[in-house]
Amino acid sequence: SFFGGIGGASRKGILVKGSNYLEILSKTEIIVFDKTGTLTKGVFNVQEIHSDVISKEELLELAAYAESYSNHPISLSLKRAYDKKINNQRITDVEEISGYGVVAVVDNKKITAGNIKLMETMNITYFKGEITGTVVHVAVDNVYAGYIVIADEVKSDSEKAIIDLKLSGIKQTVMLTGDNKNVANKVSKELGIDTVYSELLPGDKVEKLEELFMQKSSKVKLAFVGDGINDAPVLARADIGIAMGGLGSDAAIEAADIVIMTDEPSKIATAIKISKKTLRIAY
Ligand code: ADP
Ligand code: MG
Repeated sequence: SFFGGIGGASRKGILVKGSNYLEILSKTEIIVFDKTGTLTKGVFNVQEIHSDVISKEELLELAAYAESYSNHPISLSLKRAYDKKINNQRITDVEEISGYGVVAVVDNKKITAGNIKLMETMNITYFKGEITGTVVHVAVDNVYAGYIVIADEVKSDSEKAIIDLKLSGIKQTVMLTGDNKNVANKVSKELGIDTVYSELLPGDKVEKLEELFMQKSSKVKLAFVGDGINDAPVLARADIGIAMGGLGSDAAIEAADIVIMTDEPSKIATAIKISKKTLRIAY
């Protein structure tokens, strides 16, 4: 009947890598989600560009150039908004700092593009007013040049996912994100997520998982759901790692125990229902 469970799941676009995972899934009470690309579409659009020192076009161009070697959803959005061909000869150095942003040399100028943590690390004074959205701050030769506000949308299926999970016996839903507090709180409130942690570095996500492990009995199981480039260590640490395969990275799919082949997080509730049914038949 375990094989029946795995087969039934696969017909619904849920790949379960072993029958033991169905058993653990049936005992899962805490689901921890990554935000970007898991609960949201992972496609950002530019909303606003602000600069007091150079033109908006120039700010976007420098950011798009600095980000041009990155495949991060933020980088892709800036390149899409810039919408012109990138001349690679203008870029002579690039470094992407996971959870922070990028530092690149464009036209012999040092371009720093990323979040406030990156600005603070580089001792760059940045705009500290209230901004709603994900923000890319930009500095030219260590002098602040302005910021670009971008926004992602929650997936249409995410609200159903949280409701279905509660109905299938999940006691706590958690969201972890590297994005800022404003964006994280807005998304978690909209979806009815119980606990939210924001402004996390990739390593902080594993630490948060450890904290959640300390707070629960070992009989209660915890699943982590992620899509992304930086999720592999968290996927591996959870009792069950679930990768969203729709847009997910190969590394995440490799590290996961269960892969959702579509981009619908509500399939996790479907998988839990299948696991509970399978376990009832098995014992
Ligand atoms: P998430 O937890 O949402 O998947 P990441 O860990 O990939 O996010 O990134 C966390 C934060 O680090 C982003 O919200 C952004 O502020 C910043 N960041 C990461 N990569 C980049 C990049 N290439 N360009 C600009 N900012 C970035
Ligand atoms: Mg991510």
